[in-house]
Amino acid sequence: HKAFDVQSIRRDFPILSQQVNGKPLVYLDNGASAQKPLTVLDAMDRYYREMHSNVHRGAHTLGDRATAAFEGARETIRAFLNAGSTQEIVWTKGTTEAINLVANGLAPKLKAGDEILVSHMEHHANIVPWQMVAERTGAKVMPIQVSPEGELDMDAFNSLLNDRTRVLAVTHVSNVLGTINPVKELVSQAKARGVITLLDGAQAVPHFQPDVQALDCDFYVFSSHKLFGPTGIGVLYGKSALLEDMPPYQGGGEMIERVSFERTTWNVLPYKFEAGTPAIAEAVGLGAAIEYLNGLDRPAMEAAENALMARANQLVETVPGMSIIGTAKQKAPVMSFKIDGLHPSDIGTLLDQQGIAIRTGHHCAMPLMDFYGVPGTARASFAFYNTLDEVDKLFAALQKVQRLFA
Ligand code: PMP
Repeated sequence: HKAFDVQSIRRDFPILSQQVNGKPLVYLDNGASAQKPLTVLDAMDRYYREMHSNVHRGAHTLGDRATAAFEGARETIRAFLNAGSTQEIVWTKGTTEAINLVANGLAPKLKAGDEILVSHMEHHANIVPWQMVAERTGAKVMPIQVSPEGELDMDAFNSLLNDRTRVLAVTHVSNVLGTINPVKELVSQAKARGVITLLDGAQAVPHFQPDVQALDCDFYVFSSHKLFGPTGIGVLYGKSALLEDMPPYQGGGEMIERVSFERTTWNVLPYKFEAGTPAIAEAVGLGAAIEYLNGLDRPAMEAAENALMARANQLVETVPGMSIIGTAKQKAPVMSFKIDGLHPSDIGTLLDQQGIAIRTGHHCAMPLMDFYGVPGTARASFAFYNTLDEVDKLFAALQKVQRLFA
């Protein structure tokens, strides 16, 4: 392992060393999308320069190289998640498509009166696909309540879980609150009642490595672009028995075994769910991103992220009227906040003038905004390449914004 030296790590991310509005860029919008190390850019460049062809055609050398790189990346993902087999790793466009695929795939199992449990802190991507399937099948989407601190109400969960519950779909880490949910406990209680479980790992995988066998969830989904890989690709992990049992999501090439006008049969897993030419270079890029992470000292990286969060928490009181939304005991380095007298979008604009990138708005979690009675929040989300100095710059800028505009 390379020692965890944040300055040398930052040199691996060329985009970070630039000026924005005349100031050194301070990128604290990692929850929306993270930056990419050179090894990812190089892997994609090299793929196009030396290997590109369509995959799984087998007729020539470039096709073999492209297929080997593409399937090699799938194996890298399998190992990252500790899945039992690459058959259980399906490429999707991202978290959103993965959840839509599962919701549609489970639709034939749902009937009127069935219940789908989600939580009140879900991203719209883990609410709307279930609502659409509920609309078609007569099932109901039930939200698990959240406490004022931003933790899942486990009593509410226990009383919602009943004989009509068919699916539990919850986020591993909240994109707004940073809360790390007790997913192992949630899954085990759901499984005890035969409920199918899906975990949205979009905000979890950038900070820690999940073990899908230890979690024992049926599905685990995430997006590459938040995990330091390219846009346009993501992952659906699913237990093979469940994937076998689900109909294909889209029809076309790649996903069939044999097509005739009398009868068409499906390809084996995971190809049954991968209609059409896939995002090959992007898969290679995501594989390279995970290899980059594998080369870091993970415990040191997690400690560094916790130190960023601790420093931020300490500095909150230096900004009059500032308060944090989401104070769960178990948190990833995500900080939603408000400042009395300031609209979140003005905070974002004023920080941008000082070179600091954060996200403002509803973060695709409108039910959660309604729960807290806010139109939106300002959110700083950290990655392992951020520095304590950047946290200090954020707070110096917030003090200035508060002084001048609140
Ligand atoms: N779930 C969570 C928790 C997220 O944070 C996001 C992205 N903001 C998504 C789902 C959707 O991911 P994507 O837009 O990459 O499909």
